Amino acid sequence: MTMMISVESIRNEPGGQLCRTLPVEIPSFRMRGAEMEILEDSEMAFHVYRLEGGWYLMGQGDVSIRTVCSRCLEEAELTVPISFSEEIPDQEVEIRPAAREDRGLRPEGVVPDLRDDYQIDVTQRVREEIILAIPLKVTCGSECRGLCPECGTNLNREACECEDTDIDPRMAELEELKRSLSEGGGR
Ligand SMILES: [Zn+2]
Ligand SMILES: [Zn+2]
Repeated sequence: MTMMISVESIRNEPGGQLCRTLPVEIPSFRMRGAEMEILEDSEMAFHVYRLEGGWYLMGQGDVSIRTVCSRCLEEAELTVPISFSEEIPDQEVEIRPAAREDRGLRPEGVVPDLRDDYQIDVTQRVREEIILAIPLKVTCGSECRGLCPECGTNLNREACECEDTDIDPRMAELEELKRSLSEGGGR
């Protein structure tokens, strides 16, 4: 899975520019213990400008991700806006031989008349931008009530009999901390 932009068409054209839309082909990865899966309909638009000795790249798009809610542990989807720009020197642009179907048929000793294909690999940069854009705590929705800290009941679906059922899920961690402190420090 790589995201490559062919820039061959403007390589010898200072000031030239091109636009490409690519599907976001980034393998799933784990982050803070949760699997992050990029959804198939995610696309990004790239603009490339030919500079003297390099390239100016801009990338923009909304990336949809499927993961788990940090409060209730059910499936959660989020969309993160991605936007970046960078200058890339010529040395960092990959050069690949242009693909031609008749390659295997050429007689030995004949120099092929193939232009190299200059490509910018944006895979790593896009992956980094996605990681930066994912919030610290992903939830299935701002209204998620999370799990009961006592019995583990999913409070979005049903109530439980525990005393703390109406506790704000954001407070649950604080309560947890207080409890562990009082237990640990007990004389
Ligand atoms: Zn949730
Ligand atoms: Zn409970």
